[in-house]
Order: sequence, then structure tokens, then C-alpha cells
Amino acid sequence: MYDLARLREEFPVLSTCIYLDSASTTQTPRRAVDAMCAYFYEYAANHGRGAHHLARKTTERYEETREILGVFLGVDPGHLVFTKNTTDAINMAAHGICWREGDEVITTALEHHANLLPWMALKERGVDLKILPQKNGFVDPSDLQDALSPRTKLVTVNHVTNVLGTVQPVEEMARMAHDAGAMILVDAAQSAGHMPIRIDGFDFVAVPGHKGLLGPQGTGALYVKDYSALSITCHGGGIVEEVTLQGFTLLPPPARFEPGTPNIPGVIGLGKAIQLVEELRVEEIHRHETRLGEQAYDGLSSISGVAVFSPRGSPVLSFNVDGMDPHACAEELDRREGICVRSGLHCAHPLASSLSPGGTVRASMGCYTSPGEVQVFVETVEKIASRKKNPRSR
Ligand code: PMP
Repeated sequence: MYDLARLREEFPVLSTCIYLDSASTTQTPRRAVDAMCAYFYEYAANHGRGAHHLARKTTERYEETREILGVFLGVDPGHLVFTKNTTDAINMAAHGICWREGDEVITTALEHHANLLPWMALKERGVDLKILPQKNGFVDPSDLQDALSPRTKLVTVNHVTNVLGTVQPVEEMARMAHDAGAMILVDAAQSAGHMPIRIDGFDFVAVPGHKGLLGPQGTGALYVKDYSALSITCHGGGIVEEVTLQGFTLLPPPARFEPGTPNIPGVIGLGKAIQLVEELRVEEIHRHETRLGEQAYDGLSSISGVAVFSPRGSPVLSFNVDGMDPHACAEELDRREGICVRSGLHCAHPLASSLSPGGTVRASMGCYTSPGEVQVFVETVEKIASRKKNPRSR
């Protein structure tokens, strides 16, 4: 039983606004914030260093989150590297893979800049980039089949687009990539915690902590199936077994990929947040968010003068009010009812500008969003659209 009223008590801010920007970052539950406060007030120290009891407790709690995340994702926690966010995770792969001149990467026209720019930047290292076309928010796997070549080293694709919420057939794409001898990276920024996913069939998966997993900002992880495919890109303390003036030997992974002092409170908070997601059950979260997506779609698409771009059921819903700048619409939603939505090109310029040159308004729902909030949102868009058509009305 999905107890929404009880769940919402975990997020005090929800009583002050209608938060429909969960695709950008989610709210953090009380239990995660409490765990972070406990870290600061009771035992803050550095991770992995020092024999004193505070350092031991800190290290234990930090590593506990790796275990929790591993169980949640169904993979060996030793193959999860903590990162700052999804972008950091993708860059770790992009810069850490051992490229040879003439290697090829295949991505899609559906990507967030985080899964586009790092691959574009590899041009300097002689790596070619192929970009699969998209239609209505989907790539056709047969286009991938045609694009794969003996030079393809990596295919990289998002699981769910942050503009439209469309879901890509990542398992099928993984089979194709592997049959062609290539690796695959999946950007799970919009799917982890929102829908069931099996990640052990992919070579790399970038996972944000601060979106569907409900963790604090500044957290994320990279799943690495085979560490031999990846070198470290950042050097420093905490990653070495031995250092002499002649050189160094690295600790085994994942430690070698986490130099310096990490986001210890964030990771500890993330562990508690994932436990909440586990309690809710991701299948139930998916069902709840899909229903909200359907409600929002049905509501918006029945308003004259509103164009909806996302498919029915997507909890990431892009739309525009005819003749209205997306930012102006977002500001008006906030001003009228404290409704927080995104507007513009959503860090995915190629996809968002293909829908409309100035992008879209994007409402994105989370596990804690209520049908009542969606109703207020739809009614407010209706008022804005009718005022746009008839400026004298309110
Ligand atoms: N990929 C996708 C599909 C996203 O939606 C986002 C965030 N909107 C990112 C990557 C970047 O995520 P982060 O902010 O965690 O770096």
C-alpha cells in the first residue's frame, strides 16, 4: 500500500510549494537529513584514514551506503565508485577508458549534455563520434545496428530522456553493442529509483544519488563492470598503497577512483534515502509516477492552446502554452500557486530545441507528488492558457 500522506511527512518543504522539478533534483527525506546531522554532530571525521574511533565509524557508515546501493542495483558493491553526480560519473568513464586514435563512440540525439559533451571532447584524442537520429524521443535500434563498426568502442545512451521521459530499449542496444565487440554505457539519471532496472548487463552505468534515489545533492555513482577497462583520471591521497619518490602503487578499485576527501555526509545521507526507496518499492514508485503522468497528460492535452510533447504516462512532461515563452509560463506557475517547474532547453539543446526553438516547460513528478498537486498544476496551466488567449481574464 503506497501511503502517500505518510511519505510526504518525510519532506517538510512539500507543505510550502508544489514541487514539480524532480527530474532536475529531488527533495531529500528527513531521515537522510537526520543521518547527515548525526554525522556532523556526533562523529564527523575523514573516511578511510586514521585509527581513531570517529574515523572508523565514518568509514563504516560511508561503506554501508556502498553496500545498500549494491543491493538496490543488484550488483557487487565493489564495482560502484562514488561520484559527485551523473556528469562526474560519465566523465570518469569518458576520460578513463583507454582510447586509441580512430576509435569510435556512438551516442544519440536524445542526450543530456552530460552524455554528449564528454564524447565530443574526445575528438582531441582522435576519437570519432557518431550520433544516432531520434524520432519523437526514441532511437530506432536498427539505426544502431547500421552504425556499429569494428571501430566502435563504446555505445552510450540515456535510459530515460530528461526532456520527454521516453524510455530507450537499452537491453536490446546492449546486446547489439556487445555482439559487435563494443561496450555500452547507460545514463540512468532519469531511471534509477523511478523504475526497475537491471544494470549488470551494462559495462558502465551512471547513477545520480540526488534524483530518483532521493539522496542529497553532490552524490552519484558509476557502476563499472570490468575495472580493467578504466584508468584513474584524478590522482591524490587515499588511493595509493605505497608511494616513493620514484612512483606509486594504487589501491584496488573502487578506492583508487575516489581520491581526496569525498562527500562523506552526502553518501551517508544517500544510504538512508535509498532505504526509503527500498521500503516504497521501486515498482510501486513507477506505478505511482506513471499514474500522475497520465493524469497530467490527460489534463494538459484537453486544454486548448497547450501543446504536450511527452507521451502519456511519462512523469517527465514537456509542454508549451501557445505563443508563450516557456520561462514566462514557469514564472507564472510559480507566482500563481508556488508551482516549481523547469523551462528552457533542459541541458539537452539538440532535443529540446527540436521540439520548439526556445525549449519547453517541463513538469516532473516524483514519488512524493500527489494527484491533488497535479490537479492544481493542470488548473493553473488552464488559467494561464486562457488568459493568454483572452488577456482580460485571470
Ligand atoms: N543525464 C540526464 C538524462 C539527466 O537528466 C541529467 C540531469 N538533469 C544528467 C545527465 C546530469 O545529472 P547530474 O546533475 O547528476 O550531473
